[in-house]
Amino acid sequence: MSEKRTEIADLGEFGLIDHLSKKVKIRNSSSIKGIGDDAAIIDAGDHVKVVSTDMLMEGVHFDLSYAPLPHLGFKAVAVNVSDIAAMNAIPKQITVSIGLSNRFSLEAVEALYEGIYAACDHYGVDLVGGDTTASRSGLVISITAIGEAKKEEVTYRSGAKANDILCVTGDLGAALVGLQVLEREKQVFLSNPDMKPELDKYTVVTGRQLRPDARMDIIHEFKELGVIPTSMMDISDGLASEIFHICKASGVGATIYEDKLPIDKQTFDTAVELNLDPITCVLNGGEDYELLFTIDQKDFEKVEKHPDIHFIGHITKSEEGKYLVTKSGTAVQIKAQGWKHF
Ligand code: ADP
Ligand code: MG
Repeated sequence: MSEKRTEIADLGEFGLIDHLSKKVKIRNSSSIKGIGDDAAIIDAGDHVKVVSTDMLMEGVHFDLSYAPLPHLGFKAVAVNVSDIAAMNAIPKQITVSIGLSNRFSLEAVEALYEGIYAACDHYGVDLVGGDTTASRSGLVISITAIGEAKKEEVTYRSGAKANDILCVTGDLGAALVGLQVLEREKQVFLSNPDMKPELDKYTVVTGRQLRPDARMDIIHEFKELGVIPTSMMDISDGLASEIFHICKASGVGATIYEDKLPIDKQTFDTAVELNLDPITCVLNGGEDYELLFTIDQKDFEKVEKHPDIHFIGHITKSEEGKYLVTKSGTAVQIKAQGWKHF
């Protein structure tokens, strides 16, 4: 009899996490929120600690033939800070663990850390530890970020309710389009090393892919404006997939409007040039690290004039489903594609 073997690919990333988390037992009352949100929430008396980990693997998450090491260091911190922001919290510390193959020199590691230090400055966080190991599969960077929040200000994925307004910051799709440009230029270079990559036209989209910025500015503004979103998460896997997460965690549906979806002009033009549908890039492109959140209607006027917050739709009852209303007025069901790593 052969042993049972289930492919991870059949479960997918989220299926695997769900499967593993079923057997997790919470033993400490200080573990307020465990697996299932952008970060864990831990009781610390008069406030809560917020903890998130993200790992970046060479060949899966980045390609050193076009990702400059300082940008990569910055990005590795930013993606963690983004998860702390998604809980409406302020990041305070990070730990950095790296796996290095013998391809890397001291100068290369210093270049990586130049970006890590720059991100520490930018987000006001302290590098307080980590781990260093050899690696047989290229560069691995795993960062844990620790933040703080008032318990009553923490925003979970689960707080959205019918009639809340669905909002996103910035613009979407740029990181995916940037990745396609970088891949295209890499292929051109590989087939003819004398060709210089033509990247000047694409600095917005390639910049978003190589060195994204977490939206801590928005978190600070929420505090100034006196707004606590009813739910929030960051957009790392694509808008459609993240809407599914908020709807599942909150037990609600959502309707969004195509003509409200924010896309940068360079993202749009480049998508068209690459024969990609710009709206598909907005819905399914990953790694934008913008924030998706919901607010109660009573808070609308506090954020109404904000130049970088876009109102893309509203929350409905669960049985109303998840729909995108196209420019022509047709409602089409949203499919969560997101990024498949397996
Ligand atoms: P994000 O995209 O916001 O970083 P993920 O989709 O990576 O979030 O993770 C979703 C949730 O699953 C988080 O609570 C995360 O801590 C948890 N998680 C992911 N991988 C594992 C794992 N191997 N073991 C336990 N929890 C995990
Ligand atoms: Mg997240």
